[in-house]
Amino acid sequence: MAFPESKLTIALAGNPNSGKTTLFNQLTGANQHVGNFPGVTVEKKEAALRDNGEFFPRKSAGRIVLVDLPGIYSLSPYSQEEIVARDYLVRERPSAIINVVDVMNIERGLYLSIQLMQLNIPIIIALNMMDELRENHGSADIPRLSAKLGVSVVPISASHKEGIGELLETAVRAAFLQQRPLVQDFCTGAVHRAIHAVAHLIEDHARDIGVMPRFAATKIIEKDDLLLEALDLTAHEKHTIAETIIDMKDETGKDRKAAIADMRYEFIGDAVAESIEKPHMTLHQDRSARIDRLLTSKYLGIPIFFGIMGVIFWLTFSVIGATLSDGLAWVFAAAGEGVGGALSAAGVNPVIQSFVNDAVFAGIGSVISFIPMIIVMFFFMSILEDSGYMARVAFIMDKLLRKLGLSGRSIIPMILGFGCSVPAIMSARTLSSERDRRVTIMLTPFMSCTAKLPIYGVFAAALFASHRGLIILSLYVMGVVVAVVVGVVLNRFIYKGKPVPFIMELPTYRLPNLKTVGILLWHRTKDFLQRAFTVIFVATIVIWFLQSFDVRLNPVDYAGGSMLSLIGDFIAPVFTPLGFGTGICATAIIAGFIAKETVVSSFAVLTGVPSALALQTALPEYFTPLSAYSFLVFCLLYTPCVAAISVVGKELGSAFASFSLILRQTIIAWVAAFIVYRIGLLFL
Ligand code: GDP
Ligand code: MG
Repeated sequence: MAFPESKLTIALAGNPNSGKTTLFNQLTGANQHVGNFPGVTVEKKEAALRDNGEFFPRKSAGRIVLVDLPGIYSLSPYSQEEIVARDYLVRERPSAIINVVDVMNIERGLYLSIQLMQLNIPIIIALNMMDELRENHGSADIPRLSAKLGVSVVPISASHKEGIGELLETAVRAAFLQQRPLVQDFCTGAVHRAIHAVAHLIEDHARDIGVMPRFAATKIIEKDDLLLEALDLTAHEKHTIAETIIDMKDETGKDRKAAIADMRYEFIGDAVAESIEKPHMTLHQDRSARIDRLLTSKYLGIPIFFGIMGVIFWLTFSVIGATLSDGLAWVFAAAGEGVGGALSAAGVNPVIQSFVNDAVFAGIGSVISFIPMIIVMFFFMSILEDSGYMARVAFIMDKLLRKLGLSGRSIIPMILGFGCSVPAIMSARTLSSERDRRVTIMLTPFMSCTAKLPIYGVFAAALFASHRGLIILSLYVMGVVVAVVVGVVLNRFIYKGKPVPFIMELPTYRLPNLKTVGILLWHRTKDFLQRAFTVIFVATIVIWFLQSFDVRLNPVDYAGGSMLSLIGDFIAPVFTPLGFGTGICATAIIAGFIAKETVVSSFAVLTGVPSALALQTALPEYFTPLSAYSFLVFCLLYTPCVAAISVVGKELGSAFASFSLILRQTIIAWVAAFIVYRIGLLFL
């Protein structure tokens, strides 16, 4: 087969949770986020085919581009990420579509397939999760299904790498030869007549805007008014269409949307009955149902959820994560001491010595030693995501969240917020109502992200050694409580209205895939290290510089003379009522705006300690337990980091949103820390 010079783009489209991203990762070697709940992919992602020769001749691989799309149920989109997928397919028209269909939910998958076929783009159905069908003693007659649908069907198992080579070959051939789906009549009777009548009527208008007439006709009958406008029909034509629809309604006795949906399901029902032998209740579903009887039970569901989160926090903060982090901190301290000793023995310039000791080892080291704790946290998060439990959490929390004017789906961005706010805020796109989305985005930054862990970790170890885990847990809980209060206020006064009803499929439970989890952790680690050596490093150097020199750029030898102390002392009084009105705290808080970890690295630089361990012994000189706790509360709640702020601005579509976020959270943080400190003073 001669290969075209131009690029072929192959789009992966299908229902949420059908395995598109898993397939995309296999084909391209990318490491996109996979999770067992709907709404993991919210943006389209592109990558070239992997060129390791595994699935395709190496030299041509670079010319094939794959596009991973957010999941959709139909081409009539409801939420933002569905619009992304629809617009891409309809407007940009990829060279071919690989339509991923989960064989365990085949009817729902084919409901989309037969709409995709009408786009008149070459299409191949990848019948995924064949491993699960086999395990449950079902079977599929592929040639028969393929004949009935009029498109190629390739059975695969994306996560087990089965059938991928054949799928790719079929897809590339179809893209290359531009093999369109055989035109199929899915319809019968009255609906059939209506679609054909409208299709003929609008044929020229549809071709003018580059849409297939039958597709356009079906959409119009389904009441897609945007498309109707775009077609620019005459009043007379519109009238005829309206009449046709009324006739169809009268004949079928159903409303227009139901008539079309029923027609599609009837066709699909026949196709599936002929070709797929399904196990009655699959082992997986059976197991899932049994697990759900416990995990989503009316009385135990919520306590179990809190229990699970509690265990995760406990293991992270006081058992596994803390132990590993302490070990790493010790290694850093020893290394720093060794290097520092060597430098001073060699008589290196004291400014350089100070740079290496204070900025590099103490500053960066104090942050990096928390990597194990952060990784452990992300490990548990990815287990939650990949097992299918996340969707259940949304389900069981729905009632409770509804009282705050949110729907259960909002809990997913919030839980992801315990990891990092940036992807969490983006995942709010899956919320189908704009109001729910806005409120959720505003509440997500109150969840303690992992970047705040180093702050909590250092302070808890320094001042609350015996109750370390408890102190950290209390901060996480406080973040949630404040989010609840803010949510109630927003709901009462600003975003009045009702959350949309809860609709979310509960996927079957799966054992988390080790590779998926591994990839995720590797990414988080890389991400964190990258940040440590770029943003955090630079911020630390700036702090070190401002601390080490005066305004005339002379090295300072007494603490009061540096540029930094000028700035810090100027702002410090703002924090005096909260119990930590010192220049050091003010500076660290400002640095934390860049990234939360820099609060810790700044402390290490500012107190002039050689390592994170030494910082733990130094902090009690600067704080009482109460003022330390007040400081932690402030750090928990005040403005999120630059990255999160800019995502909020982008998602809400205005710079004002970013600005008001900074202001709102800083005020809330100040008030909360004030209350904590003042109440504390009464008792201590
Ligand atoms: P997407 O929402 O369509 O992008 O789906 P994902 O790629 O995120 O996968 C959803 C879930 O299905 C994940 O838990 C995957 O591990 C799982 N999965 C994907 N492909 C297969 C497969 O072939 N067999 C099985 N058993 N699970 C799969
Ligand atoms: Mg995906």
